[in-house]
Amino acid sequence: MGEPTRVLLDESRIPRNWYNVVPDLPTPPPPVLHPATLQPVGPDDLAPLFPAALIEQEVSGERFVPVPDGVLDVYRLWRPTPLIRARRLERVLGTPARIYYKYEGGSPSGSHKPNTAVPQAYYNAREGVRRLTTETGAGQWGSALAFACAQYGLACEVWMVRASYEQKPYRRTLMKVYGATLHASPSAVTTAGSRILAEDPHCTGSLGIAISEAVEVAGQHDDTRYALGSVLNHVLLHQTVIGEEALEQLAALGETPDVVIGCTGGGSNFAGLAFPFLREKLAGRMNPVLRSVEPAACPSLTRGAYAYDFGDTAGFTPLMKMHTLGHTFVPDPIHAGGLRYHGMSPLLSHVYELGLVEAVAVTQTECFDAGIRFARAEGIVPAPEPSHAVAATIAEALRCAESGEEKVIVMSLCGHGHFDLPAYESRLAGRLEDFTLPQERIDAALAHLPAV
Ligand SMILES: *Cc1c(COP(=O)(O)O)cnc(C)c1O
Repeated sequence: MGEPTRVLLDESRIPRNWYNVVPDLPTPPPPVLHPATLQPVGPDDLAPLFPAALIEQEVSGERFVPVPDGVLDVYRLWRPTPLIRARRLERVLGTPARIYYKYEGGSPSGSHKPNTAVPQAYYNAREGVRRLTTETGAGQWGSALAFACAQYGLACEVWMVRASYEQKPYRRTLMKVYGATLHASPSAVTTAGSRILAEDPHCTGSLGIAISEAVEVAGQHDDTRYALGSVLNHVLLHQTVIGEEALEQLAALGETPDVVIGCTGGGSNFAGLAFPFLREKLAGRMNPVLRSVEPAACPSLTRGAYAYDFGDTAGFTPLMKMHTLGHTFVPDPIHAGGLRYHGMSPLLSHVYELGLVEAVAVTQTECFDAGIRFARAEGIVPAPEPSHAVAATIAEALRCAESGEEKVIVMSLCGHGHFDLPAYESRLAGRLEDFTLPQERIDAALAHLPAV
């Protein structure tokens, strides 16, 4: 049989701790500010939106945070996830590189999102919350949260970006099967949504707008809290189960990575894979390049400003220092809905500013072509979001083919594309466009950054 293709861990190897990178960084990330006072926000400011346990994790200085038994029990439905050697892709590319992908698409809702949806629902339920509101872009986060809410008996109300709502009817069905209530965003049921519809009745929506709507409703009801699927520290924390497992799986093979690659929308799957490797790098035990990949149509790390900005369009959230295209930026409706966010995780932005991770941007046709190539070799159809990671992985592997370097590449394959086949159909029919993002559009949105 030779070397293994799939590295599987026993259920007993699900990580017992999430990893918090903050205490290992040379400087701490800048504080989150209250938009009115411009003072650092305290737990009381966040209490209307999040349960105490998650607020504590958001500001935690502990290196390891224990995974509660009530969360482990649900993680066991799909974790540990496999680490798979992409031998067939290597062969097609004629590369001496060894490519491994950590596959999160086998989770109940088909992506890495349940890794954080489950603990978020768990802590809310434990603190007596009855309903969670949220936004969703491609529908991945909405389905993950709907699944997690069903596990703990919570109601779930989702604002889905209208562009995706129309492109992905079956994601809507999946959320409804799990018991969630859905709105296309912008919606007429919130003040934030109504205001935008009054200006532009055909607005295709954005994650920033949908966040405003979900936050507005959570703030109005005592039994309701809000849940965010990316960007925040506690989300990145929960996602580190990906990297912790991958470290163990690579060690079992005697492999040390040279390059770790993941796509970035808000930064959570990339950070979830990369941060445990960053810990090892900072400790001098390995030295991989950590490379994030974003869409050329929404390039917050590669072309955004590093500045204080709102997390949502209406300006309800606290101010976070992050790489941003401006909270009023509405990206073109590319198919990687999960990557259409104006900002980037403040923690990942800080790590990027420290020079500890790299960022590249790729166009959507290049990504779909990479996704198709991957599917024909490996069988799994990647979601449009991780097809960005696939494109960067193929580019690295082809460079190795030229140079003869036997690099070890580890990639986050954070979700499958079974709900995204209409987008693949468009590419196969030659109907997919690449949007070039003019600098003027970025400049115009950045002109609306809050003065801090
Ligand atoms: C949500 C999502 C993303 C983008 O979010 P990150 O926080 O950057 O990981 C990427 N891929 C998939 C499959 C998603 O569901």
